[in-house]
Amino acid sequence: MALPDDTWQTDLLPGLEALYEDLHRHPELSGQEHRTAGKAARALTEAGYEVTEGVGGTGVVGVLRNGDGPVVMLRADMDALPVRENTGLPYASEAVADGPDGESVPVAHACGHDMHVTALAGAAALLARLRAHWSGTVLAVFQPAEELMAGARAMIADGLFERFPRPSVVLGQHVGPLPAGMIGHREGPVMAGADVGDVQLFGRGGHGSRPEATVDPVLMAASVVVRLQGIVAREVPAAETAVVTVGRLQAGTKENVIPDTARLGISVRSYTPQVRRLVIDAIERIVNAEAAASGAPKPPVITWSPGAPVLVSDPEATRAVGADLAAHFGAERLLPLPPIAASEDVGLFGEAAGVPTVFWFWGGTDAAATLAAFQEGRLDELPSNHSPEFAPVLQPTLTTGVEALVVAALGRLGAGTGADAGAGAGSA
Ligand SMILES: [Zn+2]
Ligand SMILES: [Zn+2]
Repeated sequence: MALPDDTWQTDLLPGLEALYEDLHRHPELSGQEHRTAGKAARALTEAGYEVTEGVGGTGVVGVLRNGDGPVVMLRADMDALPVRENTGLPYASEAVADGPDGESVPVAHACGHDMHVTALAGAAALLARLRAHWSGTVLAVFQPAEELMAGARAMIADGLFERFPRPSVVLGQHVGPLPAGMIGHREGPVMAGADVGDVQLFGRGGHGSRPEATVDPVLMAASVVVRLQGIVAREVPAAETAVVTVGRLQAGTKENVIPDTARLGISVRSYTPQVRRLVIDAIERIVNAEAAASGAPKPPVITWSPGAPVLVSDPEATRAVGADLAAHFGAERLLPLPPIAASEDVGLFGEAAGVPTVFWFWGGTDAAATLAAFQEGRLDELPSNHSPEFAPVLQPTLTTGVEALVVAALGRLGAGTGADAGAGAGSA
């Protein structure tokens, strides 16, 4: 299937390549995406979208109404990372910004979100140009603060699905260390859900020589840490998987003083809502039970920070999108992926709107370099997301990213009139 427009690569693409290099040179940290949002808004305005800025912070929403039909949401995230770029590219970032603690940090698009913004700007423009070939509404959403797992939540809380047309499907994509031109997809759980727990245990302090007069929160904490290991080993079914890590354990100031309290920081990764619930419930049960077993003077305080839910690419919708992508790119450019232990907040949109999310990865690593690394058994040495050396090759990454969004959107939108289709219309 060819796109019903074969001119975009000559007249749209050069501007998009310039936009990408500009965004890459000017990365902005999570929540500070003002310049990036301005560029996204301008691209949408030029393409004829109704544009609203400042949604959930720096979020940008573009609406293109084109008669009756489904509302298809396309999402790109905009933020960069506090990383010093070391790619050696002519358009490498030298940016610095104020970090969360007010200190100055280097900033780089080490996760490739500049490629996401550019691909969505291109797809939005191309869909506007192709409006004779579809009916319905395109909702283009540029999201802030993905790296903090905060931006999707902020846009939803700011009325994304009340102030704008409610979508029937959410489409998103992430660039990664696959060979450029390839698309990696998976039905069902794609990326892990992440939860962060903070546990405060209460004992009764005293002299280190008289433990009988105290309730020792250090022993309580140690018992909790050991007992938590049983959750994955003994409660999560063998066919499922999860991670429970106590990455922070704090108590006491001196060897002969038994402290009053102890504190644990717990990281949980899971791939299904059922396992996530099971693990969180088990942690709370064990923490409370260990405190009771120690005779704690008061119950522990357990706080869960909002993390990211499991990112589920709706199986039925993903199969349909996969078929459209295979028809356009050729099945040999599609690659099945294993579940990924990193997390994403894009799933919150589909969850909040009660509609399917479809999320895929696309390659940004030079194909010849990937092949050479594979042959030499050093695939793991290729830079991947969040590395100072990571930056997708401009092409064919950008073209693939634009076309993937357009093809996936066209397949979910209604049929068009075909009027003004021009030469080269129809599918081949
Ligand atoms: Zn990232
Ligand atoms: Zn990312």
